[in-house]
Amino acid sequence: MLDWSEPSAAARHAPPSFLNPEAGADQTGLGAIDRHGGRVSVDEKRMINCRADVNQLLPLKYKWAWEKYLAGCNNHWMPTEVSMQPDIALWKSRDGLTEDERRAIRRNLGFFAASESLVANNIVLAIYRHLTNPECRQYLLRQSFEEAVHTHTFQYIVESLGLDEGELFNMYREVPSVTDKAAWALKHTQHLDDPDFRTGTPEADQAFLRDLVAFYVIFEGMWFYTGFAQILSLGRRNKMVGIAEQYQYILRDESIHLNFGIDVINQIRIENPDLWTDAFQEQIRAMIRTAAELEAAYGRDTMPRGFLGLNAALCETYMHFIANRRCAQLGLSRVFDETENPFPWMSEAMDLKKEKNFFETRVIEYQNGGALNWE
Ligand code: MN
Ligand code: FE
Repeated sequence: MLDWSEPSAAARHAPPSFLNPEAGADQTGLGAIDRHGGRVSVDEKRMINCRADVNQLLPLKYKWAWEKYLAGCNNHWMPTEVSMQPDIALWKSRDGLTEDERRAIRRNLGFFAASESLVANNIVLAIYRHLTNPECRQYLLRQSFEEAVHTHTFQYIVESLGLDEGELFNMYREVPSVTDKAAWALKHTQHLDDPDFRTGTPEADQAFLRDLVAFYVIFEGMWFYTGFAQILSLGRRNKMVGIAEQYQYILRDESIHLNFGIDVINQIRIENPDLWTDAFQEQIRAMIRTAAELEAAYGRDTMPRGFLGLNAALCETYMHFIANRRCAQLGLSRVFDETENPFPWMSEAMDLKKEKNFFETRVIEYQNGGALNWE
């Protein structure tokens, strides 16, 4: 039976049991309220290991995080806004797609279907707790919703095309070239999943940075980009144009996720220069190199023969190009020989201003109702 009586004074004042009194500052924001603490000033705000109240969004310190939150909100979309009729007709047609194209599409969808959920779990269950800044958390909350929209996209595609849902959502366990990528990334979030894990030592802070690199720079910033290139390449040839349009929306979201991750890592570096040792930089470069190799293996498995405009070798070159670019964004020296971008049209797809009418569909750089200018 429920007890409706008032709690005793002692119970009201007791700190919640999950708050470790030894831990010092409350980094979750859920601890006992500090009734005598001062107001937070901008100077006290920190990306990690912050001792100031994490519930005070204002005053803003990291304007880039707030701007990404606003940009994410302005980009609101839902997968169901995109018509799947042309894709359904093509998928059901006898000879509209080759077997190689079908294989690449299935693998691609299977990779993304589970990956969106892995990325979401990492944000919510690992990253959020340790990023001790309210404006960054505000963005993480927005990003979490976007990952839900992306997972919804794959549900909508499966339903529209009548695909085998078990095959698609289990591919990350059942197809080795997909499993290898997921398993590699999960290693880096599992450290943080340990209930005793806390940032605050150089080892723990570096483990946190490795998780950020694995998920933001590699998963979303490298592997997703070859996935986008595959589908957008088909879209350029007027195949699976509905999925291609959805991937353009996802790409627009992911480019902000990636850039948020890069900004977070670089800001942590600036605030904690001791973490960014030569040995640590080498570790990050090695992670990026390994990730590119895993992607090349996935490309060979996905496109054993290749098809018009796309093959495993081109995807590997593209991955090298992207890997070097990510290194530059993190202030690291490149990991592969310099190479041309084999998919120059991808830069155009990524240039959000030019993205309008890319497939002669409606303007996709629209703003949602809440952001319209009524003047
Ligand atoms: Mn996503
Ligand atoms: Fe994402």
